[in-house]
Parts: sequence; C-alpha cells; structure tokens
Amino acid sequence: MTSTSRNRLAHSSDATKIVATIGPASEDRLGELIEAGMNVARLNFSHGNLEDHAKRVESIRREARARMTTIGILADLQGPKMRLGTFEEGGRMLEVGDEVLVRRGDGLSEPGEVNFNFGGYLEHVKAGHRMLLADGQVQVNAISVEGESILGRVSRAGHISDRKGVHLPDSKIVYTLPTAEDREHIEFCKEHGVDFLGVSFVGQADEIEEIRELSPNTQIISKIERKLALNNLDAIVAATDGIMVARGDLGVELELEQVPMAQKRMITRALRAGKFTITATEMLESMIESSRPTRAEVADVANAILDGSDAVMLSAETAVGKYPVESVATMRRIARAVEGSSRYRDMPRPDWQESEPDTANAVGMAAVRIANALKISKIICFTETGRTARLLSRYRPRAEVIALSPIPTRVNQMSVLSGARPILFQREPSLEDMIYMASEMLVVRELAEYGEKVVFVAGVPPGVARSTNVIKVHNIGEEVRLH
Ligand code: ATP
Ligand code: MG
Ligand code: MG
Repeated sequence: MTSTSRNRLAHSSDATKIVATIGPASEDRLGELIEAGMNVARLNFSHGNLEDHAKRVESIRREARARMTTIGILADLQGPKMRLGTFEEGGRMLEVGDEVLVRRGDGLSEPGEVNFNFGGYLEHVKAGHRMLLADGQVQVNAISVEGESILGRVSRAGHISDRKGVHLPDSKIVYTLPTAEDREHIEFCKEHGVDFLGVSFVGQADEIEEIRELSPNTQIISKIERKLALNNLDAIVAATDGIMVARGDLGVELELEQVPMAQKRMITRALRAGKFTITATEMLESMIESSRPTRAEVADVANAILDGSDAVMLSAETAVGKYPVESVATMRRIARAVEGSSRYRDMPRPDWQESEPDTANAVGMAAVRIANALKISKIICFTETGRTARLLSRYRPRAEVIALSPIPTRVNQMSVLSGARPILFQREPSLEDMIYMASEMLVVRELAEYGEKVVFVAGVPPGVARSTNVIKVHNIGEEVRLH
C-alpha cells in the first residue's frame, strides 16, 4: 500500500458526522469549525433574529465553497416552547421556600418576579401544579392564580437564566404544530435554501406531513422530546427523514434515568426504517467553560456512536461556549477512536432489512457485502434523492459511501449520513458514461487511484428516481462496457 492510499483509507473512516450550533461564539469562526470537522451547521430559531440567520446561511455557504466541501444547514424550529424572559446579570438563584410571582412577559424580570412567555397557557395552570424552570433545574409549585400572574413557591433550588425553557407537566396544554411563527420561519428557510428543518415538540406524524407540504424539498428532522412522540414513534419515524434524540426537553418530560434506554430504542427504530439519527444535548457540556471535557462526556459521545447515531451534536458548546473549535475537534477525535475499534467494526449489522421487499435496499445490502468480502474501501452510488445513500449508510459499511447526486440540496442533505461523502455530480446519458466520468473525477480529487477496485451502485435508466438496480464491481481506469 502506498502512503497516499494509506492516508485515504485513514480518511475514509471519517464516518460519524458532527452537527454544531452556530451562535455568537462561532459565527465568525465558521472556517475553523469546518476544518475541525463540522459537517452540519445548526441555526437555532429560538435565538437571534432572521437577519442574523440570513447572514449565517450566507457565511456558511461561502466558507464551505472556499474549502470545496459540503456542509448541511439545519434550521431548528422553535415550536411552542415556553421560555423564561431575561434577568439582570443574565440569571438568578432561587432557593427552596422563596416565593415568586410568575407572570407573562418576555423582558427583564423584576426582583421577586419571573417572566415567561406563556402564550395562552396561563388558564391551564392551577394551584398545586408544578412549574419546571430552566429545563427542570428549578421546581416551583403554584399556590394561587392572581390575574395574569401565578404565585408559586420554590421546592427545588437552582439557577435560572435568560430564555431557558419552562415546562408545565401537570397543566393540560394544547397547541397546534407548526405554530404561526414556525410557518414564517419555514418560508424564510425555503427562500434561503436551508437543507433540514428540525421540528421541535413533534407529537404525531400528521404534524410532519403538514410541514412537508409547506416545504417539500427540505428534509425533516423530528426532534423526539415528548412522551407523546415516544408513544407514536413508529408513525413519526415513517413520516420523517431523520430524528433527533433531543435529550434536553426529553430529560424533563421523562425521568432522567429513562433517557439512555429511550435513546437506544429511538436509534434502533430509525436504523430499522432507514432514517438517520442525530444525538443531541449536553454531549460535551463542560467544554462551554473548559478546554477539556469530562471522562463521562467522552464516554457519552462514544456510546451514542455505538448506539448507531449518524451524527452527534454540539449546542451551547459551539453557540456560546469558550471553546467552540476545540469542542468540534474533540468530538471528531472521539468519533475516530470509536470508528477505529473492533467493537465499532463488528457492531451488529441487524438482519431485519433482509426481509424488506424493496429493490434499492436489497441492492444496497448486497453492495455492502461485496465490498466487505473484497475489502473494497469505496462504494460509489448515484442517487437522485439521496435515498440509496441512506440505505447504504444504515448498514455502516466499512467502505466509504461516495454519494453522487446532480441536485445541490440533495448533496447537502447527505452530509448528515454516517459514512457518506456527498459530491455534486452531473447526470450523463448512459451508465457507461456515468461510471467513466465518476472514476475520472475521483482520481482528479485524489479519492481513488487507477487500478483500484471499487463498487458502483446505480440505477438504469439514469435520471429516474427509485430505480437503484445495478451493482458493478469496477477497476478504476478500465474501460466500462456493460453490453
Ligand atoms: P432547544 O430547546 O431548541 O435546543 P436551547 O435553548 O436548548 O433550545 P441550544 O441551541 O440547544 O438552545 O443551546 C444553545 C445555548 O446557547 C442556549 O442555552 C442558548 O441560550 C444559548 N444561545 C445564545 N445565543 C444563541 C444563538 N444565537 N443560537 C443558539 N444558541 C444561543
Ligand atoms: Mg437544547
Ligand atoms: Mg428543545
């Protein structure tokens, strides 16, 4: 093996993808984030205004182009999230026994008061109901309702800060999804060519279907963070393109100790259905302040990958943390260490898909087996919609999946798939031409060399979606004759 091909093989093990949230700490360091290993940039529509987001979209595209790489853009829709207002000095400590007046408002909270944006939920809070502030850090029990406010007493002490989430687990709250604000944000995302919509607080599949109608070319990531969504998981997974294990709000809805097993359940269901998974929240939380993560955080990232996540996500670490670039680099090192292990290589390849009566799936499964048997390090697939790449990726082949599509949005959307390297590649009139042109392109880009054996996965006739039906074992540079 030459040293260059060894380098390439080392590179081809970059399987797990990294999603990083862009915020004040990272918006001017996008190039560094990309070079450190970010694959998908997340814009959180709960924070910042549309003008900021538009600028970020533009900068991400520019920095990705400058590095000839593909970065997906994920817009995380806020949904009906209830949030605290703001505080002098950014936060406040609440002690057990403190009385607080919880009132409707978005702005600065007066001493003894806590603002939050209830919307129309106030009438649903009754005496005795729990109000969980700052994603469950602090518990306040409602004593009485006084006009537009609720008097409560703190029963679990803790620190609350600007715009943190509020949960009302005992109050019957009804809302429709997408919210009016989400609809505006979806329009904005369409105009700006965002690749993924993250849908917060999904409860059931018809909400996904409604959003898909509003934005048919954007991939939908259902954030699983409610009990209701766990109960409807199969239907939601069927309706969505991918899921996010959104452990922040989920950890308030469920007992915390329920979250790890729920995570495993969700990922397995998604893999089974050929959908991708992003595992999110507090993965390297201590790196908001510190240049090194805790051992427990490192283990959490590693275990999320072994559970079958396509991607792992950074939130505050990159949005507002002190070490955004180091956080991405750390995550990448953890992923590479896992991917180099025999435990990862021998991860159970479940055989459930064998019974899936779907030509593309059967062809993908066979291609992965061929590549493994022949120790081939690249499976090259032509895909219009990206579906074939997703089907290949879910088998976690040892080979890299080089996914070629003529549609820029589809190329961006494959950036989240484990083991996939998406590349924009124009259609050719015949399969012979496609294989020839793709081989030359890979050699020019130093992703393959002449004489190397690879597997091509394609559909004939070219250009027709849902027709993956051909596997060609091919020596790069050899004449392509299919008849
Ligand atoms: P969600 O429930 O949608 O995850 P969140 O409030 O937990 O919302 P994250 O994006 O998960 O937000 O975490 C980012 C953290 O960084 C939050 O605590 C938020 O307060 C802070 N932040 C400040 N400005 C921004 C910004 N422009 N974008 C994202 N996060 C920001
Ligand atoms: Mg969060
Ligand atoms: Mg959330």
